[in-house]
Amino acid sequence: MTRGGFEGLDACVHCGFCLQACPTFLATGDESDSPRGRIELMRGLERGEIAATDPALFYHLDRCLGCRGCEPVCPSGVQYGHGLEAARARITAVRGVSPMARLALWALTTPGVSGAVYLLARLLRATGLPRLFAGWGRFRFAMGMLAATAPKVGGGRSRLVKVVEGETSTNLHQPPPTSTILLFRGCVMQGLFSHVHDATIRTLGVNGYHVREVSGQVCCGALHEHAGLVDEARALARVNVDAFGDGEEPIVVNSAGCGALMKEYGRLLGDVRAERFGARVRDVTELLAGNGVKGPVAGAPLDLHVAYDPPCHLLHAQGVAVQPLTLFAAIPLLELVPVPGAAECCGSAGLFTLLEPEMSRTVLTTKLDRLREAAPQVVATGNPGCLMQIGAGLAAAGIAARARHPVELLDDAYRAAGRYE
Ligand code: SF4
Ligand code: SF4
Repeated sequence: MTRGGFEGLDACVHCGFCLQACPTFLATGDESDSPRGRIELMRGLERGEIAATDPALFYHLDRCLGCRGCEPVCPSGVQYGHGLEAARARITAVRGVSPMARLALWALTTPGVSGAVYLLARLLRATGLPRLFAGWGRFRFAMGMLAATAPKVGGGRSRLVKVVEGETSTNLHQPPPTSTILLFRGCVMQGLFSHVHDATIRTLGVNGYHVREVSGQVCCGALHEHAGLVDEARALARVNVDAFGDGEEPIVVNSAGCGALMKEYGRLLGDVRAERFGARVRDVTELLAGNGVKGPVAGAPLDLHVAYDPPCHLLHAQGVAVQPLTLFAAIPLLELVPVPGAAECCGSAGLFTLLEPEMSRTVLTTKLDRLREAAPQVVATGNPGCLMQIGAGLAAAGIAARARHPVELLDDAYRAAGRYE
């Protein structure tokens, strides 16, 4: 009988090595807010010793960010994320999801609805009011999150300069496109970060990729899966597998949360076709880094101090650690500022920032204190939730830095190098 992911917890030997890697345990000091404590709760749930309606169970599991920061430090190879997914699915089947989560999923991911929601959000963003209102408190933080989605002024809608025959990747202009890749647009990324899609297409073009659009694609389902709505996540995954077809072209994703689930469609759907789909999914930094980690074509110098904040779903869930660094290395003068604990979750975690604001802000505040100390001009991170959470936090804390996607920085360097017209 399939255990739906609970088997991932079997290897736990209670050693406790994961405790200091867990942002919620560091915030509360409560064993039940630690990976080890939660694993015990989840095992009790699977064995039927703890009811899915037990308030202590869902209180502590709801407070888990799902960041999977506990996985890489575990010497036994516990697959905490899979166990959490199984537990949340079982709890949600009995308890349902909160009205707030349901409303957010409806507004952000439903075709026909989300388009109107994002349009209104962009209109509000264009007034400049969200930036003025940004601060702490639910409303002001939400305004800060929206303000953090704004494209950089002067980013523009540049196009690649003409291909110059015979030029190589070290010359000024881009090499002729050699590989076709398919772009996953997603919902939040398409609605509020289309400028990152533009930058993705341009920077990949400079590096020899021709990006093709795919119609019929939908939300990846990650927000649903995190909420325990596994059947809804599966339904969305099936649509995407059909839309992207059975070709060999890589599927490029610039949202770490989407990419992490899409790489796991095989496990989610349990069939070979979805497995093949997952094997084609690449984070944009993996493609830009090239085979191995040779790095993208160099851009013009940018005199910037940048703190890299690796998204949990890129670093822990996908194991993509070095490739984003090659983007920064391709920008002369750009200086990476080390920030202690950069690999710890920012507290965004999908809908977590909406559903568990207190814990979310506590986790974020730790990161903001360290960023204030490091004083970067830009915090670079490759996930929409992290961009919004960190961007809102920077504004609320009065830290003079902006959150931007790493691809945007490479795009700026290419523009400064005259690669676009
Ligand atoms: S999850 Fe891993 S690190 Fe944490 S207590 Fe269990 S075996 Fe130890
Ligand atoms: S997923 Fe993150 S918040 Fe949850 S137990 Fe693991 S480290 Fe802690």
